[in-house]
Amino acid sequence: MSRLNPRPRTPEEVRQRCFAIWGEECLICGSYAKGLIHVAHIAPWDYVIGNPDYKMDLGRYEAYSNEFHRINNVVPLCEPHHAAYDDFKTLSKEDIVGAMKRLLAVPAIGNAVIRELEKLLEGKRRRVRLDHGRSVLGPVKLPGGDAEVQAMCRWLKFAWNAGAFEERNRVVVIGRVQLDLSTGRPTRRGGEIPTDRWWSLRYVARSAA
Ligand SMILES: [Zn+2]
Repeated sequence: MSRLNPRPRTPEEVRQRCFAIWGEECLICGSYAKGLIHVAHIAPWDYVIGNPDYKMDLGRYEAYSNEFHRINNVVPLCEPHHAAYDDFKTLSKEDIVGAMKRLLAVPAIGNAVIRELEKLLEGKRRRVRLDHGRSVLGPVKLPGGDAEVQAMCRWLKFAWNAGAFEERNRVVVIGRVQLDLSTGRPTRRGGEIPTDRWWSLRYVARSAA
């Protein structure tokens, strides 16, 4: 564990988002003992920061913290499975990613991702970097920066292709953002805000897509 750059605490916002998507239950065994489910990190802190031998300035530290807590780096695990992953290495990253992929094909999970994406965009009321898949390591204020949005969009693409959204139109509109689920690619919508609750979900007819 880095002494110079101590591991940041997991923000409550991150815990809530993680549980809102996967449920407050172990990703591997489904155990749901209230209060005993951990938010585990897939890539450990020392790996994310590369364990430098200097104390990082605050901007860099925050950028790494955001990367560490990004939605695609946190999963709910019970205590034994957390230990199996972190300490005993009997649970692999592939096991965890495999479980995530299986769950993303479940409509309830895919829809939960859409809801959390909607909340994220609503909460920030900010411009989203569009059309670029590249994530930038920079002083992002909170988890919820562009990379967080893009990670969720990639999940939605996966979920769409896994058949999670059979009942849904391909294009989802969240405020000024129009998201094509089949490509996971958000684009800017021209024109006015569609509803007074500008962030509310609306589905565009396939013919209009
Ligand atoms: Zn478990």
